[in-house]
Amino acid sequence: MRSRIAVVGSGPAGLAFARVLQRHGHPVTVLERDPARDARPPGGTLDLHEGLGQLALEKAGLLAEFQTLSRPEGQAMRILDTDGAVLRDWQPRPGDRANPEIDRGQLRDLLLGPLDVRWGRDVTEVVPGSRDGVLVHFADGRQETFDLVVGADGAWSRVRAAVSSVTPQYTGVTLVETSLDDVDIRHPGLARLVGDGSVAVYGVNRALVAQRNSGGHVKVYAQFRAPLDRHTNPGRRRGPNQHASQDPAGAEAHVEADADAEAVRSRLLALFDGWAAPVLDLLRHGTAFAHRPLYTLPVSHTWAHVSGVTLLGDAAHLMPPLGVGANLAMLEGAELAESIAAAPGPGDLDEAVRAFEEQMWARAGRWASITTAGLERLVSPDPTEALALFDEVQPS
Ligand SMILES: Cc1cc2nc3c(=O)[nH]c(=O)nc-3n(C[C@H](O)[C@H](O)[C@H](O)COP(=O)(O)OP(=O)(O)OC[C@H]3O[C@@H](n4cnc5c(N)ncnc54)[C@H](O)[C@@H]3O)c2cc1C
Repeated sequence: MRSRIAVVGSGPAGLAFARVLQRHGHPVTVLERDPARDARPPGGTLDLHEGLGQLALEKAGLLAEFQTLSRPEGQAMRILDTDGAVLRDWQPRPGDRANPEIDRGQLRDLLLGPLDVRWGRDVTEVVPGSRDGVLVHFADGRQETFDLVVGADGAWSRVRAAVSSVTPQYTGVTLVETSLDDVDIRHPGLARLVGDGSVAVYGVNRALVAQRNSGGHVKVYAQFRAPLDRHTNPGRRRGPNQHASQDPAGAEAHVEADADAEAVRSRLLALFDGWAAPVLDLLRHGTAFAHRPLYTLPVSHTWAHVSGVTLLGDAAHLMPPLGVGANLAMLEGAELAESIAAAPGPGDLDEAVRAFEEQMWARAGRWASITTAGLERLVSPDPTEALALFDEVQPS
């Protein structure tokens, strides 16, 4: 008899897991809170690294399609000083496919493929140890039992409580995200500033980063150190159990209403006052604003293994968004699926999960240390630290 396996969440972790498991001929139930695939904007662009996200896609049999969809030219990276002078301008070499970019929506659709997601299934609690397996409770009062429940439900995971009492903590850094459409036609000067990839400007305890997505769309991230308050934590206005999240797709991020958008724009322009006019134009022309206070889980978040429940991706190891979270999430999903597929029988499922967890914790812990130190240097009292960090990691 096959094990009944459910994954909660259809982000990069959950979809990579389901897709690889399905490829190995194992049925899997995908439970997603969103009512439909296009229920909300999918979020910005992601760079998928060789050996991480790209390896996951290879395991899913989707690497060739990714190579067709992705944008190697998006690896370009330019750094300016606050006066607008170019400090660094890295361009990818011909044939460089180390970290090509892909829109999140394109990646989601690629991973979704033939998967049959159960949309509108909002999981509220997961209770292991019942006679018939692990009990999943839904917001509409329904419940269902599985042999294994995989929590791939992101930063504010509901599954996590079944294995760990740890909750995300605020890093002290907030992102405010805005975007520009049709830049090549409507804002050609900004299109040149951003180039084919990203442009970043680092100041004292603040930064502005703009990234080109496909179709002339640009996402802009204002980053700054700030206490959690009415503006940096809109979740507080909505009740104690609702969090403004760093969920990149914006499920829980607070999008300012039009009336408030102008107030946010003014606050941001004041915060970045004195920076070069073309850089500030990224904020002047931005449309809606979304607040994303950055939260993290402890660097070495592990838990005593619980039979029948595990976590993947941000649910397991939420870390600063420095370009690896989705990559790790996907690779973990693919690896857990392969471990399960390789288990000789249902009796070996638990051992396969346990072995996977050890591997995930070791790798995620290393990346959590790197990205935590990285955030300190990128949004720092000394902007030369940010430049030094890029000099260390960019190919020379
Ligand atoms: C601004 C920004 C930029 C980033 N850039 C990059 C980058 O370039 N490269 C990179 O690798 N990473 C990047 N990251 C990090 C990356 O976005 C995350 O690490 C990644 O999305 C985690 O994937 P996940 O599947 O674990 O969780 P998520 O993507 O958060 O997906 C979780 C899913 O679970 C669903 N869900 C939540 N709760 C429930 C529930 N109770 N019941 C059912 N379903 C539920 C959600 O609707 C969602 O579909 C960035 C993050 C941010 C904020």
